[in-house]
Amino acid sequence: MRIKKNFIHQNEGFVCEHCSFENPAHPNSCRNHCRQCLYSKHVDQDVPGDRLSPCAGLMKPIGIDYSGKKGQLILHQCCRCKKRMKNKIAEDDDQGELIKLGLEMLKK
Ligand SMILES: [Zn+2]
Ligand SMILES: [Zn+2]
Repeated sequence: MRIKKNFIHQNEGFVCEHCSFENPAHPNSCRNHCRQCLYSKHVDQDVPGDRLSPCAGLMKPIGIDYSGKKGQLILHQCCRCKKRMKNKIAEDDDQGELIKLGLEMLKK
């Protein structure tokens, strides 16, 4: 039998290490990236919310993934160890930044 890894619910406000924006906790989901510049932090090892990664590098938003069933996802890549992760977009994320990110990806 396979052990299913469950998403661990973590929802807390944080100050962004990239743009210093003070992010409040998300009202009904998990805040895992800055809603102003979309940067995230490498804190999770295998499961979202596990907070087991010793890396703690900044994760740069590098693109948008439209393929998943969850809708749009932000692709993040760690500046330190190059690990890539996908994160759900929050409804209060900066729409301008999301569009820029999508356009940026089309250029490549
Ligand atoms: Zn930020
Ligand atoms: Zn990392």
